[in-house]
Amino acid sequence: MKNVSIAIDGPSGAGKSTVARAVAAKYKFIYVDTGAMYRTIGLAAQYADVDSKDKEGIIALLPSVKIDMCYDESGVQRMLLDGKDVSTEIRTPRSSIYASDVSAYPEVRAFLMDMQRNMAKNYSVIMDGRDIGTVVLPDAKLKIFLTATAEARAQRRYKELCEKGMDTTLEEVLRDIHYRDEQDSSRAAAPLKPAEDSVMLDSTFLTFEETVAKVCALVEEKA
Ligand code: C5P
Repeated sequence: MKNVSIAIDGPSGAGKSTVARAVAAKYKFIYVDTGAMYRTIGLAAQYADVDSKDKEGIIALLPSVKIDMCYDESGVQRMLLDGKDVSTEIRTPRSSIYASDVSAYPEVRAFLMDMQRNMAKNYSVIMDGRDIGTVVLPDAKLKIFLTATAEARAQRRYKELCEKGMDTTLEEVLRDIHYRDEQDSSRAAAPLKPAEDSVMLDSTFLTFEETVAKVCALVEEKA
């Protein structure tokens, strides 16, 4: 059977990853979190002491960056940088900003594109990101643009980070969300925007279960 691809795009904190993970488990798709790949490049820059705004420095770093992705026994995606599991480290607020900054460079996007498309070639995937429906998988069987107000997204992300024991404040998380919304939507390379044929889903007033149910209904209907 031919592999099926489902794209879920949307701004930071809209719940893409938790929703996509649940839907992927139900339909036995592989869940691919592309944000984690940008975060890993951002972390490589932090390790190498290259500022994320130093475009030439970041580009020069790429040939030596060795990124791998694997799945643990519970099917959770893990990111490896030079063979080291950095899946937790890439979640800090600083790594979010670094990821957003480095993802604006077309060279960084091209560097990760093959990895992303190869996953979709080899498996049925639910892939989340910012440009999956518009650039990475334009032929995806179903494209969803999942969004929510910045305040609702900040609340959720804040709760998530607190649960992981990270030291942050709601104000810092909201500031980070505004920064990334603005930068991700206004950049020239693969900006965050809904694909023309995507289904818009606003999760502001939906519970996690309701959002998953809506996505599952779309999967049943279209994919
Ligand atoms: O999804 P997540 O918040 O982990 O992504 C981190 C950053 O990576 C985003 O703010 C965005 O700038 C970038 N990104 C991207 N394209 C994707 C996925 C993530 O530019 N497909």
